[in-house]
Amino acid sequence: MSAPHSAPDSAAKPANFLRSIIERELQEGVYAQRQWGGAPGDAASHQAGSADPARVRLRFPPEPNGYLHIGHAKSICLNFGLARDFGGVCHLRFDDTNPEKEEQEYVDAIIEMVKWLGWDWNFQGTEHLYWASGYFDFMYRAAEHLIERGLAYVDEQTPEQMRANRGDFTTPGTDSPFRHRSADENLARFRAMRAGEFPDGAMVLRAKIDMASPNINLRDPALYRIKHAHHHATGDTWCIYPMYTYAHPIEDALENITHSICTLEFEDQRPFYDWLLARLTEGGLLNAPAPKQHEFGRLNLTYVITSKRKLKALVDEGHVQGWDDPRMPTLAGLRRRGYTPAAIRKMAEDTGASKSNIWLDYSVLEGALRADLEGQAARAMAVIDPVPLTLTNWAELYGAEHREPCGAPAHPQLPELGQRSFSLGPEVWIDRDDFAEVPPKGFFRLFPGNKVRLKYGMVVECTGCEKDADGRVTRVLATVVPDTKSGTPGADAVKVKGTITWVGQHDGIAAELRLFDRLFSQAQPDAGDADFRDALNPASKTVVTGYVEPSLATAAPDTRFQFERHGYFVTDRKDHQAGAPVFNRVTTLKDSWGK
Ligand code: ATP
Ligand code: MG
Repeated sequence: MSAPHSAPDSAAKPANFLRSIIERELQEGVYAQRQWGGAPGDAASHQAGSADPARVRLRFPPEPNGYLHIGHAKSICLNFGLARDFGGVCHLRFDDTNPEKEEQEYVDAIIEMVKWLGWDWNFQGTEHLYWASGYFDFMYRAAEHLIERGLAYVDEQTPEQMRANRGDFTTPGTDSPFRHRSADENLARFRAMRAGEFPDGAMVLRAKIDMASPNINLRDPALYRIKHAHHHATGDTWCIYPMYTYAHPIEDALENITHSICTLEFEDQRPFYDWLLARLTEGGLLNAPAPKQHEFGRLNLTYVITSKRKLKALVDEGHVQGWDDPRMPTLAGLRRRGYTPAAIRKMAEDTGASKSNIWLDYSVLEGALRADLEGQAARAMAVIDPVPLTLTNWAELYGAEHREPCGAPAHPQLPELGQRSFSLGPEVWIDRDDFAEVPPKGFFRLFPGNKVRLKYGMVVECTGCEKDADGRVTRVLATVVPDTKSGTPGADAVKVKGTITWVGQHDGIAAELRLFDRLFSQAQPDAGDADFRDALNPASKTVVTGYVEPSLATAAPDTRFQFERHGYFVTDRKDHQAGAPVFNRVTTLKDSWGK
């Protein structure tokens, strides 16, 4: 794997407006004066530090409520990639402000997959992995500060009243009757909220901005709500929790983030982001200059859904066998399917960043994968839909017990991968569709009277087949053409139009082959109001027993191969064992998504 932390190459990068913004800001020295206190903290702690050694700070802030998916990979590569390219760091921050939904399983899986993609959060010896819940004390202090300055108030309207009084796009909102309470009164109420004196939903803390603002997000947004819930990190310390829109800007500022990159749906939140940080920097609580939010378009992939909620439904309802099912667009699923981190990074890099949501054809991701695997995956022969081929003159030519040694390079361009060896005998497995009793036009493989080469072996001439009562072929018959062994003098004297792959029955290994197809049969499974369940492809997984050449007997889990003529396969990272091999088909050799 190429090191993701190496210097950026000078090759032209795809359009990426964020890159231009950062370049310009660095040139103008916008962030040059920032102090860094050695850890996230308030203005005082940063000002006690020294010049921030990171030229930029970005963050990837997942909520640990599910597994990362291919859309997250886009965001991860964008943030970590920009940090790397501009001499900065990207923090991994768990956005765990919501007490109920988070689980350790998700936390572990997120850390594992960000690392798998090739990134880390170490900068000059410091690990930048943070938890939003670590900032609860500060968030509370900031809320009291806003109250004291008359910039926030406790609203005791019912949720229904609040909704009704918020107005809509055409109607301005109406002030709450609680909006004009004194700071002291609000402070007392807020402290009582914190002390647990009220039930969930009884009141909220709101910013006091402008109920008539054309931006509904500025109509006194909620900052804190009451939730008597146990939090995985802070236990029962809190019964009030900050709202995401309040917490997120503060998290960014405490961490000295320079560029807070998010997806377009947060665009309308930006004025509040700026409002809040302006109040808290002018109040001396937060370090200046404040971070800035920048929105970019989401990445959507055809034939894929990228909503954690819907992916969770697929798992919970048993449509797939877990978050890491090789059909899932989760990073855990893609890894198990055999995707390489390099292919995913390439796709992310090539799609740049733009101001509109993009739909990417799945074939682009798969193309990046094929390009990566082509140059590295060892080759092997395998038979997926086996039918026996008997060489009827073998005993007469060579003796029934003779096995003819055959070999091939593991990779045609990588001699360092060594040689594979296997042998030819009188009984081999071939793929069922390499034989036709009556050949269709243009069919050059086995049919009575036709000669083909058994790859790396000998030329054989088909003489017929045996069938069962239903007319299904049970055995193909052929004779060996003498003196045609690949690599021996005169082997090419007999011309053939077809070469087929095969596995010897005497040395081939039976293997479970899991053949995956797209999980959804529609390009946009959850477009509009469509239920993505209706678009599930019933044939997305087929399990067969095939045969692979003997060199694969010792393959380690998670090893990728190109099965010649068939596609790329990977030993399953969970189920594969040396004695009982299990392969997942990563992808076929040619694109089948385009049309
Ligand atoms: P979901 O809607 O699936 O729950 P999310 O956006 O709520 O996803 P978070 O864990 O909050 O999930 O996301 C972490 C980061 O990943 C956010 O900054 C988010 O904008 C980004 N992200 C999520 N999906 C995509 C996508 N399809 N393309 C680009 N970025 C994405
Ligand atoms: Mg989210």
